[in-house]
This record gives sequence, C-alpha cells and structure tokens, in this order.
Amino acid sequence: MRHIERLPEPAILKEKHDEWQEKFDKAKKKNSKARPDSSKYGNPKIRKNLEDSSYGKCFYCESKLSGASKEIDHFIEVTINPKMAYTWANLYLSCSNCNDKADHNAIPVDTALDPCRDSDDEIQANITFDDEYICSQCNSLKGLNTIKKYHLGAELLDMKRGKWLQKIMKDIISIQNQMRIDGRCLPTIDERQRIKRYMQPDQPYSLMSKIYLEKNFDYLLR
Ligand SMILES: [Zn+2]
Repeated sequence: MRHIERLPEPAILKEKHDEWQEKFDKAKKKNSKARPDSSKYGNPKIRKNLEDSSYGKCFYCESKLSGASKEIDHFIEVTINPKMAYTWANLYLSCSNCNDKADHNAIPVDTALDPCRDSDDEIQANITFDDEYICSQCNSLKGLNTIKKYHLGAELLDMKRGKWLQKIMKDIISIQNQMRIDGRCLPTIDERQRIKRYMQPDQPYSLMSKIYLEKNFDYLLR
C-alpha cells in the first residue's frame, strides 16, 4: 500500500451523482437489499480517473490491474452507509483479492489504514515486509487490521510479490556483474536510477521493493 493522491472528481459523477443516488434510495425503499448500479459508478470515465490516481494499481495491495481484475470498491460499504454509493471519495480501485467482502465489514475502516487518507510515513509505521511477506510493524493493531481486512497476506499475493522480487534480484545481479567486470564498488548513476525505479509509486509492490532494497542493497541506492 502507498499513499494515493486522488484526482479531482470526474465531471460525469458531479453531474449525475444526485440523480443516481436518488434512484438508489428509491430502490432501497422497495428492497432493503438493493445494490447501487455498478454500470453507473463503474462508468469508464470514473474508472479511468481511479486508474490514473493509482497508476493502474490496486489501492490496497499495489498489484497492477488488467481487464476483468479491476473492481471498484466502496471504501465504506454501501450496507453501512448507502448515502456514499456514488461518492467520489468513497470509490477505490481494487483487485478481487482485496475486494473480497467477507472480512470487509467485520473490521471498521477507521481501525485500518486508508491509502487515500494516510501518508506513506503513516503506512510504513504500521506495515512492513520480510522479503515478500507482509507483516505489521511492531505488532501495530492498525497494521494487523489492514492486513486482515484486505487479505494482504494472501498466498496469491506472496507468490506475485515473490516473483517481483526475483525480477529485481535478476536486475541487481546483472548490475553487480557489470561492477565486477569494471572493477567498480559503486553503481553508475544510470544503474542506481534503474534500481531506485522499483521504489517509485507507479511500480507494482513499490513499498515492499523500497523496504527490501533499503534493507539489503543500501550501497546501490546511495
Ligand atoms: Zn489488491
């Protein structure tokens, strides 16, 4: 998870919000289990703004999303606050792993991290990584709740993050080999940039990569 700077509300949502919400309110009166219309909050322009806000990554786990894996999540569940069904600030982009509703409601949102509210420092004060495995920082309850609520410790994610670390390691080994050939003990500016690139927020699993690189390859970053 990284902090997400949300883009301004898309014009279509500003224009249609009240009309869509009213329709949903009426539907709820008839049937308390009614859901908001996903074709409305999933409008391509809304979707595009969310994708641009997060560089096409899941707001929670930082997996790059493609095609059908892009889901729009209500940060505060519609069952908890139906008035936020079409609220821009309540729409988050998520993968299906993190959007799995089973644990979402059991853990209140304000007891877990929020990528749109919390800074990178706050996120890192609560969650960290041991290689590809996510853990809470110093047993922080907020960290534990975040991992549990969004299934950030799922085996599938461990596998994806592990593969990403392998890719980084391959790059590091090729740089180390070149340094050996050249008789250098420090990387060139280009090589350093290449490694630092993995820590940028537009990259998948950038928080994990940042923690991994700072812990194990600090000399390549300086
Ligand atoms: Zn995710």
